[in-house]
Amino acid sequence: MMVNTIGPSEDACPGACNRRYRDAWAAYTTAHTAWRSTCAALSGTAAQLLADVPEDEDLAPDAYDALFAIVLPEEPGRLPDPPDEPEVPFTAGEAVTASGANVWCPRCRRRIRAALVEIGDLAATLEAWADGHRGAASGEHIPTRRTTAPSPSPITDMLDALYGMLADVERQWREHAGHPPRPGRSRGGDARQRTLAYLLEQADRILDNPGSPRFGRGILAWQARLLRATKSDPVVRRRPGRCPRCTWVNVLQTRDDGHIECRNCGRLMNEDEYQDDVVSVAGFDVVDETIAARAAS
Ligand SMILES: [Zn+2]
Ligand SMILES: [Zn+2]
Repeated sequence: MMVNTIGPSEDACPGACNRRYRDAWAAYTTAHTAWRSTCAALSGTAAQLLADVPEDEDLAPDAYDALFAIVLPEEPGRLPDPPDEPEVPFTAGEAVTASGANVWCPRCRRRIRAALVEIGDLAATLEAWADGHRGAASGEHIPTRRTTAPSPSPITDMLDALYGMLADVERQWREHAGHPPRPGRSRGGDARQRTLAYLLEQADRILDNPGSPRFGRGILAWQARLLRATKSDPVVRRRPGRCPRCTWVNVLQTRDDGHIECRNCGRLMNEDEYQDDVVSVAGFDVVDETIAARAAS
C-alpha cells in the first residue's frame, strides 16, 4: 500500500499568513485519500477478475480484455493520476537557533504579542460592562444591584474561560521553563493581568518553541472572540489603546460610519490603521492607564 508522506512544509509559519497554504494542503490530502481508495478498489477488482481468468489459452485473451474494460474503462492499462500537489507559496517561519526549528514569521509573532496586550484591554472593557459600569460612558443608567440573583452573565462565563485558558498556559510554561510554580491567585481582573504580563514577558521564548502553534492560534482566536463581543454591543463603542496623535488613552471610539475617532484631538483612523498604529504598538502601560482613566471618569 502506498503511504502518503507528502505534506505541508515544516518550515511554514503556523499563523494566519499561511491560511490559504494550509487550506490547499487540506484539500490535497482529501483528494489524495480519495485517489488511494479508488486505486485500492480497482486493484481489488482486478485481482478478483485475474483469479477468474481461465487457464485455457484460447479463452484467456478475451478474459483479459474484459478485465481491462471493466477495471479501467477510460484509459485501459492505467490507474487514474494522483491529484496535483498544491502550488500555493508559503511564508516561512523564522529559524530558531536553539531548537533548530522554524516556527512563526516575524509578522505573526508581532500579531500574537499585540493580541496578548489587546486581550487584557478587551477583557477589562467587557468586565466593566458586565459589572454594570457601561452607563458611565453613555449617560445611560444601568442598575448595579438587583433584587433577585442575576443569572450568570455570558460575559462572566467568557472571561472565566479566558482566565482558565491563560492560567493553564502559564502553569504549563512555568513547568517547561523550570520557573517557580504559579502563585495562588483568586480569579479576577487583577489575576488575569498578572498572567497576561507573565505570558507577554515570556512570549518570545514561548513562540520559539515548536510546540507553540496551538498557543499562538488560541491567543489569536481569543482576541477575535473578545473583539466580536465588544463590537456586538452598541453601547460599548470605546476602542482600547492610545491615540497615535495626542497620545491620550480612553479617548478612541468607533463612529457610526465604522471609522475610529479620537474624542480628544479628532484623529480619524480606519480599522487597518487602528490595528497598525494603536493595537500593534500597545504595551501594558496603556492598559493600566486606561483602567485608571476609567476609574477616574
Ligand atoms: Zn506568519
Ligand atoms: Zn487624539
